[in-house]
Amino acid sequence: MKTLHQLNDLALFGAPPLFAEPLHVGRPNIGNRDAILARLGEMLDRRWLTNNGPLVQEFEKRLADHLGVRHCVAMCNATVALEIVARALGLAGEVIVPSFTFIATAHALQWQQITPVFCDIDPVTHTLDPARIEALITPRTTGIVGVHTWGTPCDTARLTEIARRRGLRLLFDAAHAFSCSHAGKMIGGFGDAEVFSFHATKFLNTFEGGAVTTNDDELATKLRLMKNFGFAGYDNVIYIGTNGKMSEAAAAMGLSNLDYLDDFIATNRVNYEHYRAVLKDLPGVKVYDCGEGERRNFQYVVAEVSEDCAVSRDQFLKILQAENIIARRYFYPGCHRMQPYRSHFPNAGLLLPHTEKIARRVLVLPTGSAIGSTEIDRIRDVLAFSLAHAVELQPRLTSEPAHG
Ligand SMILES: *Cc1c(COP(=O)(O)O)cnc(C)c1O
Repeated sequence: MKTLHQLNDLALFGAPPLFAEPLHVGRPNIGNRDAILARLGEMLDRRWLTNNGPLVQEFEKRLADHLGVRHCVAMCNATVALEIVARALGLAGEVIVPSFTFIATAHALQWQQITPVFCDIDPVTHTLDPARIEALITPRTTGIVGVHTWGTPCDTARLTEIARRRGLRLLFDAAHAFSCSHAGKMIGGFGDAEVFSFHATKFLNTFEGGAVTTNDDELATKLRLMKNFGFAGYDNVIYIGTNGKMSEAAAAMGLSNLDYLDDFIATNRVNYEHYRAVLKDLPGVKVYDCGEGERRNFQYVVAEVSEDCAVSRDQFLKILQAENIIARRYFYPGCHRMQPYRSHFPNAGLLLPHTEKIARRVLVLPTGSAIGSTEIDRIRDVLAFSLAHAVELQPRLTSEPAHG
């Protein structure tokens, strides 16, 4: 294991990387392999592979119980789930969403000709700023989609109040927030509906998958029809629908992983706390605070690198990635700077100062079961070494050809 004494010890300048194998953000959480394979074996014996099989039914029931909601409708992924629920809720015209989110939040709307109107975020929580919403409401506005970024809940009370008063639908993209709580209640029961992602990189994974949760019986019925081509029974289509079904294999994975949630949280939490402790004194670098007193999944360890830091966020990114520490920018440069939104609203950034600032600051660090305190200490060493040698480092970094 190399130690860092001089700049040429950095992999960016040709030394061997600190880690032989890459450390990733969002490496899949996998519970018990034998349990997964046993469920898949039973599924093969049954030859019931999809179309609301017993594993999907059990998965939906377990999720609804865990989240304390009346209905959970499992789907093939969260993007399709967002599209279906947007339609089922009658969203049209314009819908207010954060720009600081994964592109799917906006695309799920635009895909069906609904215009996402980007709203700025709170710079501390990184979630929708309720104070910025009302100025964006027009006669065409039909709803608000909040995102529980990093598993931090939106200000649901204020958003609910605005939605009620202005007659808007309220939907939450809870892709990051499975098994998180808010005001003592699990995420999943807020707004008209909430959407989870069980993509391989998310806290709970079903390879690919998603779910809509709601306490609205009528909405749940509509969602079930829409995700299954509008079939109400054999040969009986009563609605326009699509194919949003979750497969039995996905549910097998999800059920098996559900038994290990507390282990995933424990691992993530130890890593998060270790990162917080060892990065605490690095000037210009701060680890996002997941908050106290509520349930969190700690799936994301988010460093924020301030503008006046001696090493920039993008410079850290290059240095870390060369060491096989595959840190990632997230939601950069913001949905409003990606297509087609960038062309539709070239000046959207003027109304999104916090989004632009946070998108420039965020550096998501590797966590999960592949790493522990030893790796985190090494990651800290790279960051601290870079900061300590920033003066000599800067000219060499700027003369490097830009890449990545
Ligand atoms: C991952 C993610 C999605 C999309 O989820 P898929 O299951 O991959 O379709 C949507 N929104 C957010 C905030 C996400 O992080």
